[in-house]
Amino acid sequence: MASNPVKARRDLHAWRERQPANFYTSDRQLVRLLQTFLGQDRYLRHREHFASFGAVCAGPLDEAAVINNRGANLPELDRWSPLGERIEAVAHHPSYHDCGRHIYEDGEVIAAYAEPASNVRALALFYLSSHVGEAGHNCPVACTAGVVKALGAEGSDALKARWLGGVLTNTYADRLDGAQFVTEVQGGSDVGLNAVEATPDGEGFGTTRWRITGEKWFCSNSDADLILMTARVAGHGTQGLGLFLVPRLLEDGTVNHFTVRRLKDKIGTRSMPSGEIDFQGAVGYAVGPVDKGFRTLMAQVINTSRLYNTVGTAGIARRARLVAQAYAQSRVAFGHPIAQYPLVQEMVARMRASSQALTAGAMRLAHGLDRAERGELAGDELAWLRVGTNLAKMRSCQHSHRVVLTAIETLGGNGAIETFSVLPRLLRDNVVYENWEGTHNTLIAQTHRDFAKHGLHAPFIAVLRRDLTTGDAAIDAALAPAHEALDRAEDALGAILALPDPGTAALLLRPHVERLGDALFAGAFAQDLLTEADPARRAAELDVLTVFVDEHLRAARPDPDLATAARFGRIVALDG
Ligand SMILES: Cc1cc2nc3c(=O)[nH]c(=O)nc-3n(C[C@H](O)[C@H](O)[C@H](O)COP(=O)(O)OP(=O)(O)OC[C@H]3O[C@@H](n4cnc5c(N)ncnc54)[C@H](O)[C@@H]3O)c2cc1C
Repeated sequence: MASNPVKARRDLHAWRERQPANFYTSDRQLVRLLQTFLGQDRYLRHREHFASFGAVCAGPLDEAAVINNRGANLPELDRWSPLGERIEAVAHHPSYHDCGRHIYEDGEVIAAYAEPASNVRALALFYLSSHVGEAGHNCPVACTAGVVKALGAEGSDALKARWLGGVLTNTYADRLDGAQFVTEVQGGSDVGLNAVEATPDGEGFGTTRWRITGEKWFCSNSDADLILMTARVAGHGTQGLGLFLVPRLLEDGTVNHFTVRRLKDKIGTRSMPSGEIDFQGAVGYAVGPVDKGFRTLMAQVINTSRLYNTVGTAGIARRARLVAQAYAQSRVAFGHPIAQYPLVQEMVARMRASSQALTAGAMRLAHGLDRAERGELAGDELAWLRVGTNLAKMRSCQHSHRVVLTAIETLGGNGAIETFSVLPRLLRDNVVYENWEGTHNTLIAQTHRDFAKHGLHAPFIAVLRRDLTTGDAAIDAALAPAHEALDRAEDALGAILALPDPGTAALLLRPHVERLGDALFAGAFAQDLLTEADPARRAAELDVLTVFVDEHLRAARPDPDLATAARFGRIVALDG
């Protein structure tokens, strides 16, 4: 008989082998969502590619990201060429480029946008790569998607002709990637304080050419080819901000007029360089009207990043749950696999509930964006997309944070070890996801404005109610607490929105908008369940939905009873 250490190590090997070799083919829910949202023709056209990229993400990309994230292999500032020319570049470890080839070439994560209204496809690919906790390219991918949207919607024809082709190529060595620099040292939430200035300097690429001067404090993907950045053209506040495309290299091949002060030493997203940059008359081109820069930024760039954030945290949550569930099935304590203990079953069930709700909500929003870009979204649904994108960004990273912590707890001491699993990296990255692209408070404040000024709560809640009504008796019974949460929000909103102080109103609003965000996820998951053809699987996943609704949408989380214990026990055995 094997000694205890030998047996334990064999169990650890079993844990590794239990984890999927393909993040796509193992994800029954994603397959279902893509069949629904892409439509059968488009789904069949891309099915093989999703499968091949799912294998790349669980295999070579995962391995390269581990190497790239080792302390000694992180990016370093590389300011001078060997011949002493200023290049303001970043030196990357070869594993960084291995990751890049997998993401851009195998993944086509940006090239997917060459076909119009491709958010579902592009974001599904991003969801798969987000399982890896690879930020070195994944953050730039989100920023580059913003460049595609902003240039496509608001760029002059000449700007598009000059740069869009390079952005959309799937050849890693030739591709142009993007960055978005808004935050200055005086604040990221209060963008109206931006002090970096732009002054006109002739014409270029069918638009005004500008010279940009001043300091940006958070510049992720600091060696990006194309920077989208805000700069002040007039006055005060967000009104006087323009949005500019600043190429890294000038047309003569020399580096544009900026210097990188230093790269930041960060808690997470460590394989991606985030710099502090001084712009010294850098050449930039206006994207859209310069007096509407903030509006263009929000509509084309920040909303895109927020949706990427939601999809990214859905990927993080699923990966964390996969690691933890396989561990629970393999690790033996007190004579049994720990998955047999109801306390562990509860942990796995709650992780799965959050993860599946997030995935459904994220892909439903991506489909909403596709429909908006095709001009198919109107009325209530436009309000749903706007408010939903913000609330989903806030809630998704709060949920994924809890999922990753729970996964770490499932692994016990091994969960805290960097070399043992991906979990510490996912946790550290998740902290960043929570704070960029709008902090939780900023998103609540924006939602308050959308409700109080524009009355978007009524149409938003109307769409949530439609999604939370499926016509399937069992699903609708499970969703009853979600409707009650909407009732409570509607009862409270009148008084809250009438408060004169927006700060106090936002405080009182917080619990309601948290539940509205969760109602969006629950409704999306319910609609997704309707498309599950296998009745046994549908019933099994209804257990999962019920756990999510009970935990997040009831006025008070119910104490577990024997029925709950049985439900957790069923969920821990679910595959996919
Ligand atoms: C790793 C990393 C990379 C980043 N990369 C980029 C990048 O590439 N480009 C870029 O532009 N930015 C980037 N950021 C910056 C990020 O977007 C900002 O940190 C974020 O917007 C918050 O701004 P701030 O840090 O200045 O916090 P502040 O705006 O100072 O906020 C501090 C706290 O006050 C709260 N707060 C502020 N106003 C209110 C209010 N009215 N009511 C209630 N609470 C309020 C906030 O929610 C927050 O909790 C990055 C950040 C990180 C961590």
